[in-house]
Amino acid sequence: MVIETEQREVGDWIDAAVASEESVLAGALEDQRLTDPTRGKTVDDSAWECEAWGDPIPQERREAVPGVRCCTSCQRAIEVTERQHRR
Ligand SMILES: [Zn+2]
Repeated sequence: MVIETEQREVGDWIDAAVASEESVLAGALEDQRLTDPTRGKTVDDSAWECEAWGDPIPQERREAVPGVRCCTSCQRAIEVTERQHRR
């Protein structure tokens, strides 16, 4: 019984972590809609770290996408989220 309780607690913690990650992504998506962050931006405006997850953004990506604010993996997640919203 003790083990079952612990498993349930871990499950709740994971649910909470997933929920908070989703809200961070939703916030990043909202920011992107409001500000269109890459318009008129230069590499100097690119973030060094992903706004959502804090992962470092490679210099190549900063140069390729001036004004970039998210790493590749969450940019992909944001694009998927946008597609789902458009449905
Ligand atoms: Zn990221």
